[in-house]
Amino acid sequence: MKSWLVRGGRVIDPANDFDAIADVLVVDGSIDAIEEPGRIHAPEGVPVIDTHGWWVLPGLLDPHVHLRDPGFPQKETITSGLRAAAAGGFTAVAAMANTSPVNDTPDTTRYMLDRARAVHATRLIPVSAVTKGLLGAELVDFAAMAEAGARLFSDDGIPIDDPVILSRALDELLRLNFAISLHEEDRHLSDEGAANTGEVSKCLGVKGYPVSAETARIRRDLALAIGTEAPVHIAHLSCAESVELVRHARRNGANVTCEVTPHHFWLDEHAVLEWGPNAKMNPPLRSERDLEAIRAAMADGTIDMIATDHAPHDPASKNLERLAGCFPMKTAGAHLSDEAAGAFSRAANGIIGLETSLGLAMGLVHKKIISARRLVELMSANPARLIRMEAGALSQGMSADVTVIDPELEWTVEPARFLSKSRNTPFAGMQLKGKTILTIVGGEIVYDGRGGQRG
Ligand SMILES: [Zn+2]
Repeated sequence: MKSWLVRGGRVIDPANDFDAIADVLVVDGSIDAIEEPGRIHAPEGVPVIDTHGWWVLPGLLDPHVHLRDPGFPQKETITSGLRAAAAGGFTAVAAMANTSPVNDTPDTTRYMLDRARAVHATRLIPVSAVTKGLLGAELVDFAAMAEAGARLFSDDGIPIDDPVILSRALDELLRLNFAISLHEEDRHLSDEGAANTGEVSKCLGVKGYPVSAETARIRRDLALAIGTEAPVHIAHLSCAESVELVRHARRNGANVTCEVTPHHFWLDEHAVLEWGPNAKMNPPLRSERDLEAIRAAMADGTIDMIATDHAPHDPASKNLERLAGCFPMKTAGAHLSDEAAGAFSRAANGIIGLETSLGLAMGLVHKKIISARRLVELMSANPARLIRMEAGALSQGMSADVTVIDPELEWTVEPARFLSKSRNTPFAGMQLKGKTILTIVGGEIVYDGRGGQRG
């Protein structure tokens, strides 16, 4: 079934400057009409979906996820990842290239798209590597990767250290009109640091990962961007100064966008003392001051979009067994043993995010930090532009990629119920308000949460 009359919801579509109670008619997988309530009569055989009290949004898009496929089926597969994405309200996700093999050939891109087509869930947008094998030395064949279906380019997980290689990539991508998503890290400065430099890294007894490791690299790359007009996207920025650097570069003509993860707008570094390796990521959680600056930048438009950086890991990769009993660290002045500090430092970076992102972002709406309109810009309209998709809007004739949410539904994060294969989250047990009810891709319902229980 690909035709529906979606009746009575609050339609929020910033790309069309629309926010009102309305009915949406979907015919054969495309948006056919949006009208004031009661004006559209469902054509014969077209079922009505009652969305009174709910929000009807252009489908949510995540420009940064790791689906671990090909290569790491114990962590995630394209099947489990896209089902988790659908449950999280996403109609498309951009899957990063650090798989095994790396997505640096058209064959791997085509494999990803073929697997995704077989799942009938969220759309997969392949992200191509910038350099072969993510080794930072030799550029991929950009035109061939785009031809195979890649819509964004990134060596994410690893920074591009050589500025000459990066400059050449920017020239090519400007010509092809695709963006590059940059993992910004000066590895001399981060030096395998395992937590934000300061009180928390001291308490854990691990090497610190200073803010400067991020900002020094952002400064270099934005200087290159100002010179070229190439579309540059800063992945998962984590601190106040990075936000300032983006503002400054924009004033100087850089064609720059940036994203933030839900964990960087929701948690500060102290979460690591509670959650241990399930709050360890790269870049690390930062200070309370950084968190406040990020929230302000989400509200004022400096930060363009939310990206989960969904990073599934199995318990062994996180060294959970070796760290059993270490977290939460309760008392001030507590320390990890040297052995535990080593296990923490070696634990894989990253947390999952597809099934909690919307609820956490809605937390900012309920706190009145961002508006509902801004939420849709951050999670739909802006990422659509980055990944060069005709999406992120509910315009007549466009594919019916639609997310219906209940903004008031309260729920508890229960990792055991996740559709993702992994459980590495610092949000377990948290009460959230706002949840996906329906995810519709090309007019097909790929997730149905009506009835309150997961299907
Ligand atoms: Zn990533």
